[in-house]
Amino acid sequence: VSPLYLALLHHPVKSRDGSVIATAVTNLDVHDLARLGRTYDARAYFIATPITAQRTLVGRILDHWRTGAGGRRIPDRGEALSIVEPVESLAAAIERVIAREGDAPRVVATAARAPADVAVTSFAEVTRLLEATSTPTLILFGTGHGLTDELLRSADLLLPPVRPRADYNHLSVRAAAAIVLDRLIGD
Ligand code: SAM
Repeated sequence: VSPLYLALLHHPVKSRDGSVIATAVTNLDVHDLARLGRTYDARAYFIATPITAQRTLVGRILDHWRTGAGGRRIPDRGEALSIVEPVESLAAAIERVIAREGDAPRVVATAARAPADVAVTSFAEVTRLLEATSTPTLILFGTGHGLTDELLRSADLLLPPVRPRADYNHLSVRAAAAIVLDRLIGD
């Protein structure tokens, strides 16, 4: 079975006008994706941002809910947040996986729209890899208006968009991540 890791990238992501930006971390993404990741046995959930102040902010959220007042009030939340690791980049997240697993992860990207020149790999095939291999798997989610095409090209695999033919396709990253994980490893 492939050890599962999640990453939420705040850079490089697209802005509304298509330029490359770094988005701010939102508290909801920290909590919701940690609870999702913990529920699906992810070994870690990397929150990647190159902005030091943002990583410090994440650290403060984690302290509050792991050892502070929040953790005392809602222990289950501390358990979910125990898998969260602020990192500065995707490369740093990959290094963490290598340090922990002794093996580089296959990087699986997600997007609401796949660039024409990037091949997609079916959910069924990624599920098969998750079940049949011991290579770690790192699934990437974006913020803003999505991961840049260049980053999608650099990933090992790209999952098909959820609902590719829908005329309205603006899932929140929290909803999209839940659908993707359940499709891949749901009961
Ligand atoms: N501001 C938005 C929010 O509140 O979450 C950010 C959305 S961001 C573009 C969406 C991210 O969620 C993408 O980078 C991708 O990881 C994932 N996503 C969104 N729609 C998706 C879809 N239809 N299929 C797969 N992933 C999707």
